[in-house]
This record gives sequence, structure tokens and C-alpha cells, in this order.
Amino acid sequence: MSGLVLDGLVKRYGSFTALQRTELSIPHGQFVCLLGPSGCGKTTLLRMVAGLDNPTEGRILLDGADITQTPAHQRNFGMVFQSLALFPHLTVGENIAYPLRIRGVSKADQGREVERLLALVRLPGVADRAVSQISGGQRQRVAIARALALSPKLFLLDEPLSALDAKLREQMQIELKLLQERLGITTIVVTHDQREAMTMADLVVVMSQGRVRQAASPIEVYRRPADSFVADFIGMTNLLRGRIAAGALAVDGGTLALPGLPPAGEATISVRPEELRVHRDAAGPNRLAGTVSFVRDLGSHVELRIDVAGREMIAVATPQDRPDVQPGQPVGVELPPASCVVLES
Ligand code: ATP
Repeated sequence: MSGLVLDGLVKRYGSFTALQRTELSIPHGQFVCLLGPSGCGKTTLLRMVAGLDNPTEGRILLDGADITQTPAHQRNFGMVFQSLALFPHLTVGENIAYPLRIRGVSKADQGREVERLLALVRLPGVADRAVSQISGGQRQRVAIARALALSPKLFLLDEPLSALDAKLREQMQIELKLLQERLGITTIVVTHDQREAMTMADLVVVMSQGRVRQAASPIEVYRRPADSFVADFIGMTNLLRGRIAAGALAVDGGTLALPGLPPAGEATISVRPEELRVHRDAAGPNRLAGTVSFVRDLGSHVELRIDVAGREMIAVATPQDRPDVQPGQPVGVELPPASCVVLES
């Protein structure tokens, strides 16, 4: 197939497996975020795609060609790492022109290309400035421009925005997404920030302990998480475990009639806080009996903590839909069957 294919990729360091067998197909033009907690293998995966590390097993295919053994400098991929590694003694323009100079591009063409790239990252007219004379966010854009200088086939970024403050970071996420859409270049970004992944990605690859847990669109990983790790890692959720009997799930606090339950045994479900309906009455279908323990009004939404048989559940409502309940009050927490996801593990 065209695009990038990771075919049975494994990385071991001695007896430690940093990346378990991974199969992944990334079509052309996708924005992919590798998302997971520290040490889950994101950078390991990215470095193998970049050609900076060799896989222990498996192949990397680009548009059907096996590039597993192709050295990094022959892959023509653009890369931006957490430490931007801009040359401090060169100007902005010289930094961006650097890869062009190495490839023997003429001086005149270098100048034109630098202007084009600076316009692309919305930094016109700063080519002659020293790197020390521009802000952190601007440096980020210069690093991006430099990585795009040779019209790379793939754009790889490892935690590129992590050094920026929260506000600038959000702004850069949107800019990076819009830039990628304009260029249509297949892009892979490593991040441990789920909001960042949800903002930018077409495909979110959720990883933990060296394993891809789920690869899907942001809305799918949120609405249909594959397992309890993904459900818990992406946003807030309520996880409930129970025993299946007669097509329903018996959990602490009540019984839930749900579609998609296995025929027998135990199951875990995930239901997002905004899907819960809180009633003053515990009687009714798919309601669990509980007691409100805490209510906090965060302006844009109201969060309710409810004790259900000794476990805390979280419900979120808009100010308009705020349930009329107070701490200490007994309530019924309704779990609409369509919003309960039966997890794989
Ligand atoms: P972070 O978000 O902290 O950068 P990560 O998800 O990118 O984490 P990796 O850098 O891919 O994680 O590391 C995955 C695991 O492999 C970690 O346990 C790490 O200690 C281990 N590891 C990485 N490089 C090596 C190496 N050269 N030798 C031995 N172990 C390594």
C-alpha cells in the first residue's frame, strides 16, 4: 500500500522490550500522534521510523519500498526534536538554509527558499536576526521551517512544543495542524499530552508499556476506547466492573442492561462523565443508587462527585442542565446504555 507501513516492528534492548510487535498503516497526508505516558516507547518508535535506530525485528515500508536499512540521511524526512538544536551562532536564515547548503543548493535558491519557508511558518522578515533575538515560539517555527526545507516525504516531531508555556503551546498546536493540512505532508508527532493529540491528530496511536493499545481517530479513542488504559488515559471516565447475568451487568449499586456484553463472566465498562444523568430518584432503568459527595461549579460546567456503593463516580453537566442536587443527597445515576463501552480488558 502507499503511505507508511510498520510491519511487525519490535525493539529490544538486551532482555528489555521497549516496543512490542507493532503493526501500523499510515496513509499519505495523515497527522499521527504517538500518545502515551513517559517510557511507553513513543520515542523508540519514532527513532526507528527516522532511521536513527534499527528495529530488532520487522520492516518499515514507505510507498511499498522497504526502507528498514536505509540510513537516516537518505530517507529525506524532516525532523524536529524537543531540543530544537538551532545553531546559536547562525542567523535565522542561515539556520533554515543549512540543510539546503549541505545539499549544494545555489545561494540564490537558498535565499528564495528561506523566504518561502519563513512565510509558511508566518515569520516573514526575520531571516537576518540572530537566533537569540527571537522568542521561544518563534524558534519553534524556525526549527519547523528548517525541517521542511527539503520538502521531506515525512515530517517527524518529538515533543516539539513541550518547552512552551501553556498558552503558546495551544496556539502552536493549531498552527502546526493548519500548516500540515496546507502541505498535506504525512506527519508523526510524539506527545504525552492528550489534549495536544486530540487537537492535532487524524490518527491517535495510544501506547503503554511498549504496546500500541489503540490506533484510531481522536473522537473514536474518546468515545470507543479499546481498553481501560485508553479509557482512563484519554479524558475523564468512570470505569465499572461487574458480573454478567441474564444479559445484564451486575455492578455495585445496581444492575445495568447493556448491549454488547459477552454471554458470561465479568466485564468492565467505561462511561464518560458527561453521559451520566443524575436524578433525585434512584428508581428507574439503568440507574445506580448513590449519594452526592461534592459539587463544584467550574463556570463552563458543573462537576458532581457521587458515592456509589463506596466508589466515586464523576458526572459533568452544563450550567443549563445542572441537576438540582446538593452534597449529602441520595440520587440515582443513570447510565444510558448507548454511552457505556464494554472494554476489552
Ligand atoms: P518519554 O515520554 O519519557 O520520552 P517514551 O515513551 O518516548 O518516553 P522511550 O524513550 O521510547 O519512551 O523509551 C521506552 C523504554 O525504552 C524506556 O523504558 C526506556 O528507558 C527504554 N530505552 C530507551 N532507549 C534505551 C536504550 N538505548 N537502552 C536501553 N533502554 C532504552
